[in-house]
Amino acid sequence: MLTKGNLEKSRMVPLNRVRIRDSLWSSYIDLVEKVVIPYQWDALNDRIQHAPPSHAIRNFKIAAGEEQGEFYGMVFQDSDVAKWLEAVAYLLATRNAPHLEKIADETIDLIAKAQHDDGYLNTYYTLKEPGKRWTNLCECHELYCAGHMIEAGVAYYYSTGKRKLLDVVCKLADHIDSVFGPEEGKLKGYDGHQEIELALMKLYEATGNVRYLNLSRFFLEERGKQPHFYDIEADKRGRTVHWENSFMIDEKEYSQAHKPVKEQDRAIGHAVRFVYMGTGMAHVAAEAGDVEMYEACKRLFANMVSRNLYITGAIGSQSRGEAFTTDYDLPNDTAYAETCASIGLIFFAYRMLMLEPKSQYADVLERALYNTVVGGMSRDGKRFFYVNPLEVNPHVCTANHIYHHVKPERQPWFGCACCPPNVARLLASLGQYIYTVQGRTIYTHLYIGGMAEIDIDGTRFVLEQETEYPWNGKIRFTVGTDSETTATLALRIPEWCDHAEVYVNGVLEPVKDLTTDGYIRLSRKWKSGDQVDLTLSMPINRVYGHPLIRHTAGKVAIQRGPLVYCLEEADNGANLHHLLLPKDAEFSLEETNRPIDGMVAIKATALRRNTDNWGDALYKREAKYTLEKVNATFIPYFAWANRGVGEMKVWVEEA
Ligand code: ZN
Repeated sequence: MLTKGNLEKSRMVPLNRVRIRDSLWSSYIDLVEKVVIPYQWDALNDRIQHAPPSHAIRNFKIAAGEEQGEFYGMVFQDSDVAKWLEAVAYLLATRNAPHLEKIADETIDLIAKAQHDDGYLNTYYTLKEPGKRWTNLCECHELYCAGHMIEAGVAYYYSTGKRKLLDVVCKLADHIDSVFGPEEGKLKGYDGHQEIELALMKLYEATGNVRYLNLSRFFLEERGKQPHFYDIEADKRGRTVHWENSFMIDEKEYSQAHKPVKEQDRAIGHAVRFVYMGTGMAHVAAEAGDVEMYEACKRLFANMVSRNLYITGAIGSQSRGEAFTTDYDLPNDTAYAETCASIGLIFFAYRMLMLEPKSQYADVLERALYNTVVGGMSRDGKRFFYVNPLEVNPHVCTANHIYHHVKPERQPWFGCACCPPNVARLLASLGQYIYTVQGRTIYTHLYIGGMAEIDIDGTRFVLEQETEYPWNGKIRFTVGTDSETTATLALRIPEWCDHAEVYVNGVLEPVKDLTTDGYIRLSRKWKSGDQVDLTLSMPINRVYGHPLIRHTAGKVAIQRGPLVYCLEEADNGANLHHLLLPKDAEFSLEETNRPIDGMVAIKATALRRNTDNWGDALYKREAKYTLEKVNATFIPYFAWANRGVGEMKVWVEEA
């Protein structure tokens, strides 16, 4: 339990100490290295034909005095370069990629040249609105861009040991610290888009400089105070706005600035901002031992996942404002469910796990990762979903404006600049989400094959994980250690699993007695060669929505392990709304004949309405159809839309 001054800290296993060798994830991380990062580099340099220019690198070149020209792009264009660098940094933690490292080093030189002597760094304000720094934080993402650059600087330092970008971002953070703060004469404000808070916490951990922790806490605690900062700064600049039809200044809820963060109690506003804020709050709570902040985190997280979370681990159900709406409002076909929001949800869940290792947080993390996040990228790494609906009919997407944000196909990179680099940095850093350590307890949150080297009081403790998860629930751990080591292995029992068995060196252990907070705890003196075999039963589960979710009433979804399944037109024909799943439907795993490479599909005995005799009438006084027995095929949700354009459906009518 977290109390002031009495906090058992969790620590992460550094990314360069985790090697992923996994049947599912290795290929995705390969794609990030071979396809996604090189493609994005070309995009940042305007070398993609027919794509609107990014101009992001040119902006830095112009700001650095290397080229002539004008700023082009969004006010937050710099963050694309920062996110790219951060993804490269994570890759370099475990992979040799000298060509990428060389480009990254040159980019860092360029960024350093674009930095002002006083530490300020932002090409938009340098080139386009000089003299107007820090005058429109509500709308203009100045601290947001700084936050992304800080994250990149910290990541690059950890993985390469090179300090240049870290020094740049320390200078930038010092400058921000000289402008903002509680002291007289400093600005009492915060960014409209949370990000600086979580970034400063990373910088604090990397440098040990407590000023960064205090600054992060200041930004969080300043948020939502009265008189309102957005109005104060708007009045100062004569109420000019950056965005046409801007509602950001007036709708304080949109950026979670409607009341102080410690008083907030529900998921509200722009979903990405909300989860980035929660990530920063949880990190501050852990490091500062701030119990009130911790209680607020728990409240916000609980409201989000118990009232506002899609079964696919997506959040933010409306397109206007990319935002939460109200409890239990989770429409399937008009869902916004941005990929970035699920990535931010993973950040938030992970920070909650660091505060309090309870499997409920890892369950949410896993749900987002295995469904929405990995589904955000195509199997060739070239196309991306920004919006992740749970039901699609391609014909209406263009015809009806309420579906205009929904795309039945993943879009090329340049169509949506924020999600692809976020997917890239999440996948490249996946290794850091698998384990956390608290004292001598090693928590395994995710079942992903590979090897981790963990420091237990100065002893090197190696944990090798072998598994075909999520296709089956068998996981083997093999221990390697220089000398016998006393430690506890805590293995997560996922929420979807009713029966787990664990053997240590072939001897069955009593799971029930060993389970707390959703983890089986195995405590002993471990020696090299010790083996733990964990089997999680992985039946095909029917899942039902809460009675207050109107959009799932009378419907059922299919889940196996962490994977939510869906129907797709490619397997089941058009008009998926005519497929019904009887209560006694029989399921079987399609292990050998897999419709999409490597993926286990599920067959079900289903019913289909045969409407051949309906005729032309739009309405009739009797239902003119018969029910036919058919076999339905379900595929993992994340794999949909890899076989051409067609219908898709997660929630199916139950007969
Ligand atoms: Zn996005």
